[in-house]
Amino acid sequence: MSEPVVSATKGIEAMITANVLILEDDRFQSRLMESMVKGLTSGHVAIAANGHEALEHLKAEPLPHLILCDIQMPEMDGIEFLRALAGLSHQCSVALTSAIDSNIIDSVLQMARWYGINNVSKVEKPIQQQAILRLLKQAQQVEEAESKSWPQYAFSDDDIIEAVASQMVPFYQPHVAAKSREIVGAEALIRWQHPEHGTLTPNHFLQQIEQLGLSHQLTLKVLQQGIADCARWHQLGMPLHISINVSASDMVELAFVDSVLAILNEHQLPAQYLTLELTETEISPHLAKSLDTMSRLRINKINLSIDDFGTGHSSLHQLITSPFNELKVDMAFVRHMLTSDKHQATVSASLVLAKQLGLKTVAEGVETQEQANKLADLGCDILQGYVYSPALQGDQFIEWYKANPIG
Ligand code: C2E
Ligand code: CA
Ligand code: CA
Repeated sequence: MSEPVVSATKGIEAMITANVLILEDDRFQSRLMESMVKGLTSGHVAIAANGHEALEHLKAEPLPHLILCDIQMPEMDGIEFLRALAGLSHQCSVALTSAIDSNIIDSVLQMARWYGINNVSKVEKPIQQQAILRLLKQAQQVEEAESKSWPQYAFSDDDIIEAVASQMVPFYQPHVAAKSREIVGAEALIRWQHPEHGTLTPNHFLQQIEQLGLSHQLTLKVLQQGIADCARWHQLGMPLHISINVSASDMVELAFVDSVLAILNEHQLPAQYLTLELTETEISPHLAKSLDTMSRLRINKINLSIDDFGTGHSSLHQLITSPFNELKVDMAFVRHMLTSDKHQATVSASLVLAKQLGLKTVAEGVETQEQANKLADLGCDILQGYVYSPALQGDQFIEWYKANPIG
């Protein structure tokens, strides 16, 4: 084995501390990987010959940051193992190591993501040391990023109730016309301006808001503030649209349409400047009431956008049975569209379908100019993503608009 090379690399990569679990039934492959991994990380390296053994390793410290997971194995195969892994509280990066057809591996990758294992990738066999090094670095970066973005804040119900009432405000992320690159609107995204922890994104608190039954209160708050801000933009010579996310509890509230119309009226904002974004989850629990609400919103010229289109949240069935006039291509497709033909085909087909159904199209999660250009070529109307700006606090958004007189 190439010991000298391995040791030399260890010196260079001494900062890698990721723990690794190797799940591989072939003893030769397993030993080869073990030797390469041990040469690259100072973390703990564990070996499992099948899924059952791997699950045993996940019951005790030190837990792995990266699992190198074979797919074809006797007893419990890689697919069964991933399913079991998804049910555990410990989450880590997974790299699928297999020599099987790449179409099958792609399906397993997708399956793992849908099971909620987010950081999953594939690596070809025979595995090269460089590939392992890349995986270790990625696993370590993911670990570091997650420890920053998921601080374990535990909020009491009272904290949340008070925050919804007085500390949560919408930030605004620009919508840019794909052809002219003009700013045409913004999506309101809720932020908690926490006195100690700073600005928090919805992953820290939205679920708790739902559990406490405060979603409708949050929507009304964002509508009130968002429509007021949008009316102010108009007064400042910024004729923008505003998009606001709504939740399941809003759609079954039969007074909802009247509340929205009253807020529009209070701020003298014409209804066509408002778009409500919703997913299937928001509609399915009470179909009749939801369709009642949606139809009345549309009769009153409020736009309806199907959010996260193409994911499990929003389906073709929902699209053709509800009165949407806008479709948002989910960022998961946009993210991979330049590196995966399948993702690009999905984006392209979604845009064609939307056009044929007479819907406006928005792509979210646009992070590069190349993605923006491709989406414009494919006929997408509006672009949203970090390539232009993240969501900005109200005054900063106005400053940003003034500094970016595109179009
Ligand atoms: P969403 O409606 O799909 O919003 C898009 C999310 O993607 C936002 O996350 C946004 O900050 C993020 N994003 C935008 N551009 C990019 C990009 O280029 N790359 C990447 N990686 N991400 C990008 P955020 O603000 O954390 O919101 C997460 C989710 O929380 C939203 O997903 C929406 O479902 C929900 N949410 C946000 N604000 C509200 C609200 O006021 N009411 C309700 N009910 N839900 C909200
Ligand atoms: Ca949205
Ligand atoms: Ca979305």
